[in-house]
Amino acid sequence: MEKVVLASNNPHKLNEIKEILKDFGYSLHTAWDMGFTEEVEENGATFEENSLIKAKTVQEALGEITIADDSGLMVEALGGDPGVRSARYAAETADYAMNNRKLLSSLEGVPFNERRARFVSVITMLFPSGEKIVCRGEIEGFIALQEAGDKGFGYDPLFYLPVHKKTFAELDAEEKNRISHRAKALQALKEALSHRK
Ligand code: IMP
Repeated sequence: MEKVVLASNNPHKLNEIKEILKDFGYSLHTAWDMGFTEEVEENGATFEENSLIKAKTVQEALGEITIADDSGLMVEALGGDPGVRSARYAAETADYAMNNRKLLSSLEGVPFNERRARFVSVITMLFPSGEKIVCRGEIEGFIALQEAGDKGFGYDPLFYLPVHKKTFAELDAEEKNRISHRAKALQALKEALSHRK
């Protein structure tokens, strides 16, 4: 099997991506397992840029095919914020609870129907030849007036899906992973790989 290196140490991402790549004859390894232990600075202005920065940095260090995901939450009433700064919204070292508090306070007074938001995931697979496959997945919802649910991570307790009448944090992991932005980006990656010569 040909090796692919994931520019992330997130075990959830690893397993989801591993399953898909396996069908195309690739084995997936984390950058960390391959000896790349640096923190990559994500200073791009878009998810596409950040995803490419991560894939490229790891490829320059290891010379292998790499894959990277960059994701975040975009809230319409906030002009697309927190966007690429989703992980660091409240502060450089913010945790999920701080970011959720900051999001609620930024939207104070904004009625529910004006709290439209989307999660975005961009996955870049970069080959040493320079060829790259870039896939984007999105899911739309609303930012709830208060947190609900304790599953998932990040902004999940505030991301409300009208179709399910639940937040992401109230859905089982299996269900979330079937409909999420990342699932859609991965589906697109699968499509792209199946058309690749
Ligand atoms: P990264 O792509 O791993 O850098 O993630 C960026 C940030 O976006 C995370 O720290 C979360 O705050 C947020 N995020 C991305 N995907 C999700 C999700 O599925 N649920 C909740 N928050 C998410």
